[in-house]
Amino acid sequence: MRDPDCIFCKIIAGEIPSDIIHQDEMVTAFNDIHPRAPVHVLIVPNKHIANNNTFQVKDEPIAGHMFTIVRKLAEDLEIADNGYRLILNTGEHGHQEVQHLHLHLIGGHPMQYPMG
Ligand code: 5GP
Ligand code: ZN
Repeated sequence: MRDPDCIFCKIIAGEIPSDIIHQDEMVTAFNDIHPRAPVHVLIVPNKHIANNNTFQVKDEPIAGHMFTIVRKLAEDLEIADNGYRLILNTGEHGHQEVQHLHLHLIGGHPMQYPMG
């Protein structure tokens, strides 16, 4: 369920510090360490899924819950009405740096995403 070398698995387990703003049985959300906008939250499954290429049919409830948490966080962080970007990078050409599936929830101005 977890990868011992994965930094996001360690954040989920509380083994390294992070600014967790939501956690439940399926997903964890925390502030990005290098925010590209006033709101930049990462929403990740607690289960280690490397990226969308390894996403399985049995993981579909996790993905649905991630979208529900995005909606709730957007409301709580007061970016729902003005709108936001939701980004999922996959693989080298997708500029995925961390090999644990994550959604970027990015809102507010100025917004610097996407990066080169
Ligand atoms: P990717 O390019 O893989 O889609 O995005 C990875 C994101 O994770 C980047 O925006 C980066 O700033 C963020 N990140 C990398 N390491 C850490 C960390 O240790 N803590 C937190 N909170 N964010 C991280
Ligand atoms: Zn992981």
